[in-house]
Amino acid sequence: MPGWLLWRTPAVFRAFFVVVVGGAFTLTAVFATTATLHVSEFLLWAVLFGAGWLCIELTTHGSQPAGVTRDLLSAWKIPVALLLPPVFAVLTAIPFGVLKQVRVRPGVLHRRVYSAAAIGIADGSGSWLFHRLLPSGVTPAGWILGQPTRAVATALLCGAACTVVDSLFIATAARLASVEASWRALLFNRESLTLDLSETGTGVLLAVACAVTPLAIPIALPPVLLLHRSLNQAQLRAAARTDPKTGLLNAAAWQEEAERELVRARREHRSLAVLIADLDHFKQINDRFGHLVGDRVLGMVANALQAGLRPYDFLGRFGGEEFTVVLPNADGVEAAQIAERLRRDVAMTILELDAGRTVRMTVSIGMAVLDRHGTDLTDLLAAADVALYGAKAAGRNRVGAAA
Ligand code: GH3
Ligand code: MG
Ligand code: MG
Repeated sequence: MPGWLLWRTPAVFRAFFVVVVGGAFTLTAVFATTATLHVSEFLLWAVLFGAGWLCIELTTHGSQPAGVTRDLLSAWKIPVALLLPPVFAVLTAIPFGVLKQVRVRPGVLHRRVYSAAAIGIADGSGSWLFHRLLPSGVTPAGWILGQPTRAVATALLCGAACTVVDSLFIATAARLASVEASWRALLFNRESLTLDLSETGTGVLLAVACAVTPLAIPIALPPVLLLHRSLNQAQLRAAARTDPKTGLLNAAAWQEEAERELVRARREHRSLAVLIADLDHFKQINDRFGHLVGDRVLGMVANALQAGLRPYDFLGRFGGEEFTVVLPNADGVEAAQIAERLRRDVAMTILELDAGRTVRMTVSIGMAVLDRHGTDLTDLLAAADVALYGAKAAGRNRVGAAA
């Protein structure tokens, strides 16, 4: 997890931070010295920025989910990048960053600065590319109106370039700041690809509409606002089900999923098992390394557990350093094999802290099987809990089955 203070983040992240922020400044200087700007361009920028601002004001109401959130601001930044000289694209990231910080949610300052610089470079590069491909003597709007197919195809390409470059910057920063997630998870999850496509598509559509007449902006505002709102709602719904430290289902959401699986298992006369995993001597980790490291360890153990499960198993954080798993279609034998695999995987995982320090953890696991140890979730959890205490009493780092 990245630190709250820039100087407490890993050195490689700090170096990358300086390169990216320096790069954004350099790009601004280069674009500013080569541009001849007109009043009409400032007016168009003000209208597009104002529309983005209005979207922020009318969607947030202070109810923003915690963690990394997505918005549809790119929908307004893409027309800036396509229709106005590249210097506007680089600089627009700054006021939008300030707005997010002040009006949406105050975030860690260096992350905001990094993200504004990364977005500035990404949008500036996309804008530069579009203007490079522009036939000479034609304005961007003139190209879109005169050769719509070619211009729109190029606009899509450049809009996609902005999104790809920005995603690469954000994923690289997350990895360098030691977020425990794979490149694949950071770059290619279905949700963020869908959002990227909607942002690029909406942005290019807005640019085309704007090229026809800037009057299109107030007309486009309500539907874009609606998209903003639905995105916000979806993120709030997801956040309400997620444990922020581990990214797993929280206790209430896990219970909901487990109940659903239980009903299905009973209806279809299938087997099902429940596991409770509890970290061994976790308090000592907190005492030795502090609670922040303890939190990172929780995240890493959650990842190790998730990796050892089948795609249709549900893992949740039950509370503290306890995790629960529902294993659909698993009888006693299979559940014991899965539990043993999880135990071994966690014990073999070397958790790398910063400065070369490493920690190892073990878990004790209690297991209960539907019908044999109970017919509802409360009974199964109670039986798994008793089994867990048996495993603790027997020396920890082992799997206990309910009697
Ligand atoms: P045992 O092997 O018997 O389970 O020992 P333990 O130390 O793991 O268990 P105990 O119940 O004594 O302590 C659990 C510790 O987990 C105490 C608490 O501070 C810590 N803990 C609970 N939730 C969190 C959390 O969200 N973050 C961190 N860092 N620590 C937590
Ligand atoms: Mg414990
Ligand atoms: Mg415990």
